[in-house]
Amino acid sequence: MQHRDRFYINGQWEAPSGEERLEVLNPATEGLCASVPRASSEDVEKALSAAQAALPAWAATSAQRRYELLMAAADEMQRRYDELCDVHVTTLGSPIQTTGAIHVDGPIEGMRYYAERAFKMEQTERKEGVVISHEPIGVCSLINPWNYPLSQLIGKLAPALAAGCTVVAKPAEQTPLQDFIMAEIFDSIGLPPGVFNLVTGVGPEIGPVMAGHPYVDMVSFTGSTTAGANVAENAAPGIKRVCQELGGKSPLVITEEADLNAAVRLCVENVMANTGQTCDALTRMLVPRKQLQQAAKLAGEIAKEQIVGDPGDSSTTMGPLVSRRQKDLVVGFIQSGLEDGATLIEGGVEAPEGFSKGYYIRPTIFSDVRNDMKIAREEIFGPVLCIIAYDTLEEAIEIANDTAYGLSSAVYARDVDEALPIARRLKAGQCYIQGAEFSFDAPFGGYKQSGNGREWGDEGLLEYVETKAILGA
Ligand code: NAD
Repeated sequence: MQHRDRFYINGQWEAPSGEERLEVLNPATEGLCASVPRASSEDVEKALSAAQAALPAWAATSAQRRYELLMAAADEMQRRYDELCDVHVTTLGSPIQTTGAIHVDGPIEGMRYYAERAFKMEQTERKEGVVISHEPIGVCSLINPWNYPLSQLIGKLAPALAAGCTVVAKPAEQTPLQDFIMAEIFDSIGLPPGVFNLVTGVGPEIGPVMAGHPYVDMVSFTGSTTAGANVAENAAPGIKRVCQELGGKSPLVITEEADLNAAVRLCVENVMANTGQTCDALTRMLVPRKQLQQAAKLAGEIAKEQIVGDPGDSSTTMGPLVSRRQKDLVVGFIQSGLEDGATLIEGGVEAPEGFSKGYYIRPTIFSDVRNDMKIAREEIFGPVLCIIAYDTLEEAIEIANDTAYGLSSAVYARDVDEALPIARRLKAGQCYIQGAEFSFDAPFGGYKQSGNGREWGDEGLLEYVETKAILGA
């Protein structure tokens, strides 16, 4: 059990202004596993003041110094690897078997990736009579969700610090603990006071201050489309930059000549990872109509391979959903799929056998899904795959693009030559072809209601940067 009593503000462990606390439940046991202070506006203002005061000196540090500090932070993350894994197991319900690979390795590498990019801030570009340079945008509010809590934090924090920005971070209510470990890490490596500040609290309560306070220059938000819109509204009067990473309903187009086994396996494993709580999961699988039955059968068999269980057990491949609310939402979606006439191939609304406690759910596969059904239109955020049949490739592309979202997409075809022209026509920020893997060099972000910013890659750094042109130089 972890009880945290203080925020990290201005290089100190600061007592909260009030007595209220947030309780964190272990989704596998439904028991209390941690508690953290519940920030008021006053606490957030204190953190923002510290970030504002620290900004001039931090923005003026050399890229070399920022590089060294970020690399030192990455080394400390590596040293505290097991603790970082543990908090994902207890608060998110992530299986111990995959937690390091899914939740911790990437953030450590991401920290190093942006450490190296600090040097980009010292590069100027000279054109005819014009010098173009880059400066940190200023004080940034970082608001994160619970599904990849460390990864989401580092995807914002590492480029912000590399650019020379100062930050106030707020983790999701369900998963605050990794942020406290990061605060301890920054404290131990001697990051100057006020550069990284941490508050914990309830989004709708402190979000308006984090987005709208005069000291804030930029807000980076990851979460639901509704909350993202609210952040943008609160930031608008102050003309603050807002980077939004929101929801998704990403398609995988499988062509007739693709290796169906490989494509279906890729899709099912992708959707089941992190118990389906992944914003860019390939939750709509589009298959040629004549292969629908075979694809559905294969998907059902692959889904059965999942071992649902206690996240602390090393054989478990799928833990519980993060919360009771999330479980109720996902069960509601499965119910609506049944009512709308989709064919249930595997899974369903009942809890997996033997689980009377914990927010467990069955890996679920629906076939005969039409793209106008609720389960194909709305983000489920659980281990539920929709298989949709198409008659022509043209129709497949139309169905793939017929969504309010546009975060990610994928194509599995005969080969890259067949996949590439299809990939170019999908309206999404990313497209993975032939089972390609995540890359830090690939900017990540959405079209349409999936957001308007980019994380990772050089583009991820530019979110935290102002461009200055000096003419006549
Ligand atoms: P959520 O929007 O409820 O919460 C996310 C964060 O925003 C939390 O820290 C919460 O406290 C805060 N928040 C809530 N309301 C707020 C407000 N009005 N103002 C400011 N902050 C507020 O979302 P969630 O249910 O925790 O997360 C799941 C959603 O996040 C899914 O829709 C998922 O697709 C999305 N997501 C997107 C990405 C991406 O990179 N595109 C990554 C992960 C999750």
